[in-house]
Amino acid sequence: MKLLLSGAPVLLTVCLVCLSSAQMAPQKPEVPVEKWTGKTVVLIGAHADDDALSHGTLALLQAHGNQVYVITLTTGNVGTQDPKLSRLQLAEIRRQEELAALKDLGIPGDHYINLGYDDGLLEFEDRKAVIENLVRWIRKLRPDVLFAWDPGKVYQRWHKSDHRAAAYLSADAARAAMWRLLFEGQITQEGLKEWMIPEYMFYNDYDFQDENLWVDITGFVDQRVNAGAHYISQYGPGWKNYTPNPTEEQVKEMKARVRDNIRTRDGKPVEGFRYYRGLPDAIGK
Ligand SMILES: [Zn+2]
Repeated sequence: MKLLLSGAPVLLTVCLVCLSSAQMAPQKPEVPVEKWTGKTVVLIGAHADDDALSHGTLALLQAHGNQVYVITLTTGNVGTQDPKLSRLQLAEIRRQEELAALKDLGIPGDHYINLGYDDGLLEFEDRKAVIENLVRWIRKLRPDVLFAWDPGKVYQRWHKSDHRAAAYLSADAARAAMWRLLFEGQITQEGLKEWMIPEYMFYNDYDFQDENLWVDITGFVDQRVNAGAHYISQYGPGWKNYTPNPTEEQVKEMKARVRDNIRTRDGKPVEGFRYYRGLPDAIGK
């Protein structure tokens, strides 16, 4: 009991130091994203197409000599209104669409990792197992930067199911990956090492006010548009009546839709993020 009591102030001091250093962490990258090179960048999303919100930035990073990986948690095997498609067919279609999109961004197919969970049910999966899975990939790839759904700043952010789960799973996996004694079998048996991701780019699918970083995607708009037009089963007529061979007119409509969704700032095409640098413990602070 004596030991516990005397240890308490020390623990408290350590926590306060962590907290204050995290809060003081600069919320701007030391080097602008447009100039990043030689970094390993990992994006975690719930579905094939969640990365589409960041396609301009991913194309830019890939072109500038960074290694870009996309980890998708579910196979996307549910989201269709076409009654003719089975789960298996849809999963295969979503995979091909994603690979085609990444190819347009210059990202190699073997940088696409799908963890195979069922679409729509991510928050009912065994959280420990999913986090262990993500931690393994984080320790393997050792990203300098993690792109993920924003779990929220100060308050929990509302997302639709799967995005909500992916936001927290990503943040929790980033935290777990840095602790040597968590999932230690990966370290003692698989030759991996603990890893702390230093920088984060949180994305969202609407104007979320917490954005503090705008990446200028001038020069990469066409790549984003071309990549986005591959998600035939997710948007446009293919959502209700899938066809692997859309008409020219349908492709034109798809491209126009992607182009219209690109935001501008000071007359330039941009993608907005909440940038965070520091300990994973303070991702939401
Ligand atoms: Zn999604």
